[in-house]
Amino acid sequence: MLMSLFQFTTRRLVSQAYCGLKPPPSKKQRFCLEMARPSSNMADFREVFAKAKHIAIITGAGVSAESGVPTFRGPGGFWRKWQAQELATPEAFARNPSRVWEFYHYRREVMLSKHPNPAHLAIAECERRLSKQGRSVVVITQNIDELHRKAGTKHLLEIHGSLFKTRCTNCGNVTADYKSPICPALAGKGAPDPEVADAVIPVEDLPRCEEDGCNGLLRPHVVWFGETLDADVLTEVEKELDICDLCLVVGTSSVVYPAAMFAPQVSARGVPVAEFNMEATPATNRFRFHFPGPCGTTLPPALARHETELIS
Ligand SMILES: [Zn+2]
Repeated sequence: MLMSLFQFTTRRLVSQAYCGLKPPPSKKQRFCLEMARPSSNMADFREVFAKAKHIAIITGAGVSAESGVPTFRGPGGFWRKWQAQELATPEAFARNPSRVWEFYHYRREVMLSKHPNPAHLAIAECERRLSKQGRSVVVITQNIDELHRKAGTKHLLEIHGSLFKTRCTNCGNVTADYKSPICPALAGKGAPDPEVADAVIPVEDLPRCEEDGCNGLLRPHVVWFGETLDADVLTEVEKELDICDLCLVVGTSSVVYPAAMFAPQVSARGVPVAEFNMEATPATNRFRFHFPGPCGTTLPPALARHETELIS
């Protein structure tokens, strides 16, 4: 499902190459040259930023990584003997709900000692400030750690759900849950070291639904590998992307998921897309700006108050 969406948006990206949309002849050549290589000119970005009324900010794993949040993916990214893609699946949960809950319990507990970094804070401050000027900021994130919320972001679309929400496998009820531990049986469990044995918690002692008469087994309200994104959240995302007049891609690249699902449709409308990430950028991309480096360093000056802002 995700793959086919990705291929679809990639095809759209190719078929709607901006130079093919026939901008005025005098500007055509200049525009294509600009598009051939994204600009890293902060003063130019700030001009665009100052005029934007609806800013969509897509954030990825890089923003969380700068707060020291482990992803359990890639080289060295293990919890016990496993990586996230082996535990964050409906099959793993059906087979061994105790082990999967230990994994998520550990991830929730880790977050007690993690804090928003300057990128999270700059985004939240920008939203607060711009809202007083009748301008809007929305954050569309794949991160499940709630650091954007902790930083003060109000308008937040969590496309992969949250570590701090549960969903009942029986009645479907979704609940915010910040308890530590989430249930008594998980207290002191979830240690990540490879030699630690499974706690083998009886399923009736794992987190259970508290809705009247339900008592169903709860699962983390996160999108697992092989699952589709929530349709209501996607509808919200589409609505925001349709009205945004500036799009930032932060802590990921606009050509990899999740931004690759969204950025091409924004860019196809001629809306500027600005990337803030560590990765080098292929020169053929059709976004306007690229600011290399840690987003905790590059983003705060980009989103700071502009001299034309009268209300702060
Ligand atoms: Zn229930």
